[in-house]
Amino acid sequence: MNRRDFLKNSASVVATAAIATVSTETAFAQPSPPSQGEAKCRISSQEAPMPGRNYKEKVENLIAYGGDALELYAKNLNVAEALEAIKGTPIVISAICAADGPYIVPDKTQQRKAVDNAKMLLEKAGELKSTGVIMVPAFNWAKDQLEGREAYKLLIDLLHELGEHGVKNNSRMVMEPLNRGEAFYMRQIAFGASICQDVNSPGVCMMGDMYHMNFEETSDQAGFMSGGPWLHHVHLASGKRNLPGQDKRSFVDGFRGLKRIGFHDFMSLECHPLGKAEEEVPKSFKFLRDQWEQATV
Ligand code: MG
Repeated sequence: MNRRDFLKNSASVVATAAIATVSTETAFAQPSPPSQGEAKCRISSQEAPMPGRNYKEKVENLIAYGGDALELYAKNLNVAEALEAIKGTPIVISAICAADGPYIVPDKTQQRKAVDNAKMLLEKAGELKSTGVIMVPAFNWAKDQLEGREAYKLLIDLLHELGEHGVKNNSRMVMEPLNRGEAFYMRQIAFGASICQDVNSPGVCMMGDMYHMNFEETSDQAGFMSGGPWLHHVHLASGKRNLPGQDKRSFVDGFRGLKRIGFHDFMSLECHPLGKAEEEVPKSFKFLRDQWEQATV
């Protein structure tokens, strides 16, 4: 049957079905994604926005400002120092940022280099009991970047291997969609979630960054909901990539989406504070907790 015949036949089938089911239209309602549990506002910060010369001082400031977790950079990551810094405190390590590839390139040596680096970071992320290791399949600058079906198939294959290693090491890869100016491949949470669904490993999940989402998602709430059970980390920045609260960017709609999926992992500052960080970061934490309260569902 060609496309024209198919459409003609479908039209009559749809019309008949509509008449037959007019009294049971709620049967077609899409269910919400299954809840991850009780939603919680748990605030983290990457190293840079947090004042302090080392992990220990940053942890002390996080406690003073009412934060919950510290996100560490993969570069110069020191597991022993981080464990010592959080020992006996309520602070935990949220995520490790990042295992940058590129992954979706034809060069097998580069693919292997990217996967081996990510595996090494997964082992460290497991020791730190963190959320996982953030990764971007390929930034725009990646030479010979693959596209479409070829990129998809390769990414799924590599993630199967990484997911297995993640499970073995009590950790997982956390894919991050970016805006088109930085990485054209995987710009929306729904696309990342479909990759997670195909890999179907507890060692592979994804995140949403509200700075990038501002460009790419038609709705913050719907964007987070499309991540459903696969969404396990969030990055936060204002519209101009400063601290949340330093411009008019609202987080309320996004937080509604997080509440609807029962998100209880960490939301982490990834931004450049305007003014003195010692004064501005605590204000931003308070702003975020207020926005969370306003996000009624
Ligand atoms: Mg980010």
